[in-house]
Amino acid sequence: MNLIFLGPPGSGKGTQAKLLSERLGMLHLSTGDILREAVREGTPLGREAKRYMDEGKLVPDEVVIGIVKEWLLSKGVERGVIFDGFPRTVAQAEALDRMMKELGQKIDWVIDIDVSEAEVLKRLSGRRTCKNCGAMYHLVFNPPRVEGICDKCGGELYQRDDDKEETIKSRLKVYKEQTEPLKDYYKKLGIMKSIVGEGGIEEIQKEILKVIGVKVTNA
Ligand code: AMP
Repeated sequence: MNLIFLGPPGSGKGTQAKLLSERLGMLHLSTGDILREAVREGTPLGREAKRYMDEGKLVPDEVVIGIVKEWLLSKGVERGVIFDGFPRTVAQAEALDRMMKELGQKIDWVIDIDVSEAEVLKRLSGRRTCKNCGAMYHLVFNPPRVEGICDKCGGELYQRDDDKEETIKSRLKVYKEQTEPLKDYYKKLGIMKSIVGEGGIEEIQKEILKVIGVKVTNA
């Protein structure tokens, strides 16, 4: 099974995708994580991507499509993939369809996680990320045990540059203009499932399992 998680920044798609991939033993592809790692390492890709990311803009399609193609070829798709943060434009969706076809695969479901703009702003401005392992916290909803320190690995927590208020607003605008048209694209294919993304993490995960028709005993 291959899934796409769609939703505005801060909808919780990263958290849900990670949890579901662990639960179902699937691979998790987050283009945002790959790009952030390239930025941390200061590679040519990272240097190019940073210019766009810091302004809340999308990295050009051909760059991101290239990353995904390489990733799919190196990891394989036999275990099933959860695409998180990709595709983000219709051109990326079309490229993904072609890549999956070449691999003899298809996208089974697109999960659209719906949250209001006010909720996104509240969530992202309080979000803190571990510099070392990427674990995510929230100052109010999910604070670490010790302020500024990751519970899981002891790494330092920081606020992503693109989680600052001005950049969040531009990311939301970009989402509306460039990513929301994907909803129609996948509706037409009959594989869109929308869920409300406001509630507890486990509650939303159960809803996702329900809409994709998976029964698990530990959920
Ligand atoms: P995310 O962690 O998914 O919110 O991604 C953070 C940033 O990385 C985005 O605001 C974009 O600048 C860039 N990015 C991630 N995925 C994509 C994509 N599929 N297409 C273009 N840019 C992307």
